[in-house]
Amino acid sequence: MILDIRTTIMIAAALALMVGVSLRYALRDYPASLWPSMRLWILGTVLQPTAWVMYGMRGEIPDVLSMIVANSLLSFSFAKQIQAVRIFVGRPVNPLLTYMPVAVTATLEILFTYGAQSMRWRTVSVSAVFCAQMLCAVVALLDWSQPRRRSHLLTASAFLALAGVLIVRIVYEGLRDGTLTSAFAPTPMQAAVFALAAFFPTVATLGFVLMCSDRLYQELERQATVDSLTGISNRRTLDELATRAIAAAHRHKRSLGLLLLDADHFKRINDVSGHEVGDEALQMIAATLQFALREEDLLGRLGGEEFVIVLPDADEAAARAGAERLRHAVESAEFSAQHRPIPLRVSVGVAVIDDGDDFASLLRRADQAMYAAKRAGRNRVVGPADLGTRPVLVEGNFAG
Ligand code: GH3
Ligand code: MG
Ligand code: MG
Repeated sequence: MILDIRTTIMIAAALALMVGVSLRYALRDYPASLWPSMRLWILGTVLQPTAWVMYGMRGEIPDVLSMIVANSLLSFSFAKQIQAVRIFVGRPVNPLLTYMPVAVTATLEILFTYGAQSMRWRTVSVSAVFCAQMLCAVVALLDWSQPRRRSHLLTASAFLALAGVLIVRIVYEGLRDGTLTSAFAPTPMQAAVFALAAFFPTVATLGFVLMCSDRLYQELERQATVDSLTGISNRRTLDELATRAIAAAHRHKRSLGLLLLDADHFKRINDVSGHEVGDEALQMIAATLQFALREEDLLGRLGGEEFVIVLPDADEAAARAGAERLRHAVESAEFSAQHRPIPLRVSVGVAVIDDGDDFASLLRRADQAMYAAKRAGRNRVVGPADLGTRPVLVEGNFAG
């Protein structure tokens, strides 16, 4: 099979251009938080075919355009894609490092075209710069702190494939002398490099679009499961996770404690300091609870100023102790607004799993206990024993 390099370049360039323009058209359907990264990627994707077309017109347009400008533009478009990836994964972008390869490419092109004329060393050195750019993108995409998603790997593998073929080219052309006379010589090496490089923007963009869709999905998933004010589980997630934990406790015949925690006199905070301070107080309470809990405990916002905590394996004594620890943690939290300290207090109702219990029945008992704590003066813990044998007023608790 004879692969005509120029034809391949032109077809691939047309395809990449269509992909870039289509993505630009679809941009507004993605969340605005992705736009900066997407815009940079689109710019890179549209500039690449432009460079390829100039490349493919070698002999028909001045060499300065088909070689120096085309290769520098290619390097610039890779720089834009690297920027896009770095912004996407939340890493800083250094303009100097971004544009240095572009300047180096232009310098090398000028040097080996007009100075020490050498197609071989021009090819080898410029390939090395492109290769370094590809590897920068791979490093950003495989950032260990990012969740490893298939779309990241797919995009990284497009960059890696191009880096691989460029390395082969560097070694192949670097070791041989004087055989590379024309850029479009139909050697297997040239055909492999050009075919891969020209189709690269299309393949890499597929990966990038999947990354954007992944991010969109993650964001929607987060919105559906997390309470937007406090960042802890919302009621829906709480329902699901608690139901699962309760089923596991029944199955393994283990205990489980459920706490219902309600902020005391919360309306007062809103009335005196404003709703925004109230919101901050809720965030503070959620963060304090989260910090005081173990990894295996579940925390969620039931709604308003009410929180639910599920303590797997906790019997009544452990659940009470856990509740007391949380109550104390909130009481000790230092919260202030406009330099005025605002005391935070909570009342906690404790329920412990019994045969036949589900989330609703446990919650109901915890709610009764919580209201008993309110009636007893607030800022205290009330458990099943207090409700069952002794009415409401509990000794040993902390007064509000
Ligand atoms: P108690 O000690 O009896 O629980 O008194 P309370 O004032 O906490 O109880 P009440 O149920 O009367 O009031 C709860 C308040 O919580 C009323 C509501 O404005 C406030 N609240 C509920 N959700 C939010 C929220 O998301 N942000 C803010 N700032 N306030 C909220
Ligand atoms: Mg309250
Ligand atoms: Mg309430």
